[in-house]
Amino acid sequence: MKHSFDDYLNIYAKLVIHTGLKVKKDDTVQILGQVDQAPLIRLLSEYAYQAGAKKVFIQWRDDQSNRLDQTYQSIESLTEIPRYQIDEAETLLEQRTKRLAIISSDPNHLQGLDPAKISAAQNALATALDKVRTAQQANAISWTVIAAASPKWAATVFPDLDTPQAQTDALWQEIFKATRVCEENPEQAWEKHEATLNEKANYLNHQQFDALHYSAPGTDLTVGLPKNHIWESAGSLNQAGEHFVANMPTEEVFTAPDYHRAEGVVTATKPLSYGGIIIDGMTFTFKEGAVTQVTAAKGEETLKRLVENHQGGKFLGEVAFVPHSSPISASGLIFNETLFDENASNHLALGQAYASSIQGGTDMSQEELDAAGLNRSTVHVDFMIGSQDMDVDGITKDGQRIPIFRQGEWAF
Ligand code: ZN
Ligand code: ZN
Repeated sequence: MKHSFDDYLNIYAKLVIHTGLKVKKDDTVQILGQVDQAPLIRLLSEYAYQAGAKKVFIQWRDDQSNRLDQTYQSIESLTEIPRYQIDEAETLLEQRTKRLAIISSDPNHLQGLDPAKISAAQNALATALDKVRTAQQANAISWTVIAAASPKWAATVFPDLDTPQAQTDALWQEIFKATRVCEENPEQAWEKHEATLNEKANYLNHQQFDALHYSAPGTDLTVGLPKNHIWESAGSLNQAGEHFVANMPTEEVFTAPDYHRAEGVVTATKPLSYGGIIIDGMTFTFKEGAVTQVTAAKGEETLKRLVENHQGGKFLGEVAFVPHSSPISASGLIFNETLFDENASNHLALGQAYASSIQGGTDMSQEELDAAGLNRSTVHVDFMIGSQDMDVDGITKDGQRIPIFRQGEWAF
């Protein structure tokens, strides 16, 4: 690295506020992150104020306290969401507060706890904050998700490095690389990157395929696409027409499937950390859009609960393309964190579809979105299916097949 760690952390924080969340004068900003990321959170807060924010709200999180809650509280306590928590979230939404979430959790921090309790707690929170979650997914507000390296997370990515410090440094380096912080002019590099992704999205939007067919070892799956679907990439617009970048890093071009139409089998190619547990070696069988069977070599019970116990959890809500040669994939690492792993691989998501994935979607009611084929759900969980062996065809309304991916790379 050319600069010191502190220099890069500064460049990163500034980039996130300017290019990601695009904070401007008189904005209110919420930052959510783990207590061990205080140095980064303070930098982000300062850059937000310097960009003109009138108030920055910080919501501190802590894996270890969360584990204590999940261990000692009864299922009744865990599922009882206090009114003030809902009021706070709804007030911030009404004020159009821009929301920045920092991911740094130990992907396995709830390992060994009762999956039924964890699932019930997640479900209760998602249901209580339904209004806020749905509004965010319809881009009512600007929101950005970024990552920060923590020792526990880094240890799962670099188990062969000797010390927690070496592991954490290595993970930070990957985060800086993937977010283009090491480039000469990171803000310009992002503009160029967004333009490249937009080109792919524009082609797919023009094609308006009726369905996609995926084939790879262990995968033979056809997924329908709704009428007037929109392929999106890095940049989004909030309800006020302000631009923001929802994920940093991001390498994907994505849309919503028609949740009634998925047929076949798909095998995941990377593990997934969901609900504080690592799930690995997954296969899914789909019939008429619904998952009819799931298997996993690790974390099968958690996966089954995800599919069976959450409203909309057994239907697809996202299809996304990422070439196998994308920079994050080229690192050859498994990050055990969706923000990184989804940007290294073609993926699908179970659960909620983004309202912006269809023309006029952000103005539609939940019923209208459902009628248009966009899955409504309390969850949104990406799982990775891409590899260098994956081919994908677009199927037109008259049954013509046009290559989209060949051997893991864009075919156009
Ligand atoms: Zn995605
Ligand atoms: Zn997703």
